[in-house]
Amino acid sequence: PKGNVIIDTGNNDKTITDAEGWWGPLAKGFGLKMTKDDAIPAQLGKIGLKTDDIKYVVVGHLHLDHGGNVSQFPNATLVTQEDELKAAWWPDVGFSVYYIPGDFADTKKMNIVRLNGDLDLFDDGSVRVMRAPGHTPGSQFVVVKLPKTGSVILTSDVVYLKENLDKNLIPPIPGTVNPGDAYRSYQRVRLIRDANNAQIFYGHDPEIFKATKKAPEFYD
Ligand SMILES: [Zn+2]
Repeated sequence: PKGNVIIDTGNNDKTITDAEGWWGPLAKGFGLKMTKDDAIPAQLGKIGLKTDDIKYVVVGHLHLDHGGNVSQFPNATLVTQEDELKAAWWPDVGFSVYYIPGDFADTKKMNIVRLNGDLDLFDDGSVRVMRAPGHTPGSQFVVVKLPKTGSVILTSDVVYLKENLDKNLIPPIPGTVNPGDAYRSYQRVRLIRDANNAQIFYGHDPEIFKATKKAPEFYD
């Protein structure tokens, strides 16, 4: 591929020093504990990169724990669904709680690819962005084809936990925008998993996370 891609950006680095100031009551509600080592520059530094080395920022959606640091990449191109941008800026009543306007305030200056569907980012099948609404209006997941590891699916919150996909369950947090769409998106993930014999990295599965390599280790 031609350029570095980051897929989801985690919690805003400001929560390292001021969790409640940035997240409000959700900081306590979710037991947020960020460390200096979690910061985007610290994590990228482990693999020898700086934020300016990133060409594309693909967000599974713009919730506070996925789109928190998009503003750290002003020179990158943001890849998102058009309706996710609208949902983040002007959420439907009752669905604003997980969007923090300050997280993406600066994205209006960014170059943005506004999707209404899928995108083969490098036109070579190496990084495919797949539209999969349900968790939010413009959720998407990413399929990465690696030379040795094979295909890997990064679900963001299209699938929260492995159990959700295995047992067809909506995740145990409030806020799923459209459960019917979420089930259809599960089916889409399963079809792509099976067709590509892909392994899945789920958005929030603590067991899978434990078993996953962390930077500077990598999958090739
Ligand atoms: Zn989410």
